[in-house]
Amino acid sequence: MSAEHPFDPSALAFETLAVRAQHPVSPEREHSVPLYLTSSFRFDDAEHARALFAEEVTGNVYSRYANPNTDEFVHKLCLLEAGADAVREGSVDGIATASGMSAVFTAIAARVSSGDHVLASRALFGSTHQIFTRILPKWGVSHDYADVSDPSSWERLVRPSTRLIFVETPSNPGLELLDLAWLAEFANARGIPLVVDNCFATPYLQRPLALGASVVVHSATKFIDGQGRVLGGAIVGARDYLAECRFFARHTGPALGAFNAWLLSKSLETLTVRMDRHCSNALTLAQHFEGHAAIESVRYPFLPSHPQYDLARRQMTQGGGIVVLNLRGGLDAGRRALDRLRLCSHSANLGDTRTIVTHPASTTHSKLSAAERAAVGIGDGLLRVSVGLEQVTDVIADLEQALA
Ligand SMILES: *Cc1c(COP(=O)(O)O)cnc(C)c1O
Repeated sequence: MSAEHPFDPSALAFETLAVRAQHPVSPEREHSVPLYLTSSFRFDDAEHARALFAEEVTGNVYSRYANPNTDEFVHKLCLLEAGADAVREGSVDGIATASGMSAVFTAIAARVSSGDHVLASRALFGSTHQIFTRILPKWGVSHDYADVSDPSSWERLVRPSTRLIFVETPSNPGLELLDLAWLAEFANARGIPLVVDNCFATPYLQRPLALGASVVVHSATKFIDGQGRVLGGAIVGARDYLAECRFFARHTGPALGAFNAWLLSKSLETLTVRMDRHCSNALTLAQHFEGHAAIESVRYPFLPSHPQYDLARRQMTQGGGIVVLNLRGGLDAGRRALDRLRLCSHSANLGDTRTIVTHPASTTHSKLSAAERAAVGIGDGLLRVSVGLEQVTDVIADLEQALA
């Protein structure tokens, strides 16, 4: 949106905004955004410095508060999550953080005080779980986990002290979905902000803010970077909520580095083409392995056999890049298959150009008992496949020989 190329973002499609939204060019007239590797920025004079610190004027001061690269990344993400009208009206704001977990933690910690309560969905990313069960209790903040499949559990568990509702959909790794429109109505009727971890879907497949949620958090490490290079995170949503996050982040320091922000901004330019390919490859792979002799069940939001298929079709535009394969033969079968992979990577990340297979029962969730794992939908033979951008027939062939 430079002076050279004035365009109205409201008139542009998501795909175009992802490519074209860009901060004004510097006097060098560069085409691609430059990298601002500077810790601080100079003041014009004493009065300018005073006014900046008094927050009477806006401008760059210090890269823990803001940097042109982090601003650009977050501005673009605001456009994609909330739409150009919300950005123009100023009803939405965002901050960038050094990782997904610093986004999750900031979005929660900025909001709660001792004695407050948080209501969350049970199927959450492992570290988010640890924040609720091991970290927040140290500061007197309690939580409850509601049951995704039982709407009455939200009614039963919400309290006058509930300061926020935190959910993840689709969940990692079980691919459970939550009805965001229903939950947003539930939350808004009680004046409680709904915070959604939108990591698996990205704004291209699902826009929680449009469904009534107050705030979206991201691990940009995953599909937003999409190339397995950097950690990053972001919080985007209602301006008043973000003001609390901004204050908290400014003084506690989870800032995203300029270089990572610059990469992530570039990554957003290819988000839609990458996601289209992730999704079509994932659907093909899911369909291929449904009914396979070595596999008990396949879970993918856009397979009609997914228990929440109708909801997936309603709230997501495609099924995402993650497929869950439940192998016959439990733990041993899972470990055997991993050791036989030749092409696919055995790694802990997801949302990469390269297909990555993970076995949560022997790695990320090995500290839970089998019963605890079962309660969050993680069977002992569950393989999480983050389907990459390879020719999918090559990926299928590798998994076939690993399962043979
Ligand atoms: C990976 C992940 C996170 C944490 O993100 P990091 O960038 O690794 O800190 C949070 N939520 C979900 C759903 C994730 O998959």
